Amino acid sequence: PSHTSSRTFAEGVPLVVEQATRRPVAEREQLLADPGFGKVFTDHMVVARYVAGRGWTEATLTGYAPLQLDPSTAALHYAQSIFEGLKAYAQPDGSVAVFRPEQNAARMARGAVRMAMPPVPAEGFLAAVDALVDADRDWVPTGPDQTLYLRPYQLAVEPFLGVRPASEYLFVVIASPAGAYFPRGVQPVSVYLSEDYIRAAPGGTGDVKCAGNYAASLLAQEQAIAAGCDQVVWLDATEKKYVEEMGGMNLFFVLGAGADAELVTPELTGTLLPGITRESLITVAQELGHRVTERRFSVEEWRAGVADGSITETFACGTAAVITPVGHVKARTGDFTVGDGTPGAVTMALRERLLDIQHGRVADEHGWQHTV
Ligand code: PMP
Repeated sequence: PSHTSSRTFAEGVPLVVEQATRRPVAEREQLLADPGFGKVFTDHMVVARYVAGRGWTEATLTGYAPLQLDPSTAALHYAQSIFEGLKAYAQPDGSVAVFRPEQNAARMARGAVRMAMPPVPAEGFLAAVDALVDADRDWVPTGPDQTLYLRPYQLAVEPFLGVRPASEYLFVVIASPAGAYFPRGVQPVSVYLSEDYIRAAPGGTGDVKCAGNYAASLLAQEQAIAAGCDQVVWLDATEKKYVEEMGGMNLFFVLGAGADAELVTPELTGTLLPGITRESLITVAQELGHRVTERRFSVEEWRAGVADGSITETFACGTAAVITPVGHVKARTGDFTVGDGTPGAVTMALRERLLDIQHGRVADEHGWQHTV
């Protein structure tokens, strides 16, 4: 049995709700006790289909289940595929709020254009997220620092081996309860500067979340781990001189200390991902009285600033871990440690402020919370 919901995916395309089996309460509660990250999935998913010449033809909230794909499915061969990541947070009043989903909708639409795919309409993206969170409301964990991670993605599903934009696409949204990212508390990560591999070059795809970017990053991340580090830090492709980002997170450098500290973050040159956490933190930091500058920032400036004490903290930010302090830096040109290797005061103040907004512990003055 299915019914047409009050939600619209695209013009003339209602979001259809199909009856799906829900797992028993006891099973859900057991899974929510220690969900980890990206391993447990909720009872539902949203699937929408696009066909060239007809546009978005159908959108359905249905039971979480394997997708059936033809072995010649275009995305499996040429990676015409993009994804997003955002979170729903249980609020103190019992409601659920998704953090800035319209920003993810816009970024995914920009990514679609870059990958020669039809953009998902913002209305459809939001309707899908709302319908899924609403149906799986009981899967939004309420423990400290727990969230429901949402993974929208779009892939070319035309069965065809020619290299050209596909004529058929799926847009899918799945949801995964996520535990505290740092079960043992916030601890600085160690990073490895990638001097062998690059992530993105001018004119490439570094500023979009296309699947291939992440496949291409895995070997450098393995190299970082082999070198005894937690994460890889990417440098610019041309001169290998400027810091771009860290794994799946953007970077901030704290110059000076205390309330007068200035923050510097690499400017959006087209080769790094415009993070929504990055953008939110620029606003939050300015409100806390910090000057924030977006500009190029070299490894040498980082190293020299740490050596003479003018750079006191470094942190990375992204949806999954929110804010992670960066401690030790490993590079061919010599290692160094930021601050005393413990989380810095500016980093922790920003982290607390952003988490308070996301978890609804302070007023949402920016209209960032999208209540479902
Ligand atoms: N950089 C990269 C390469 C990423 O994959 C992500 C995660 N989307 C980020 C930065 C952080 O972006 P956001 O704050 O939107 O999660």
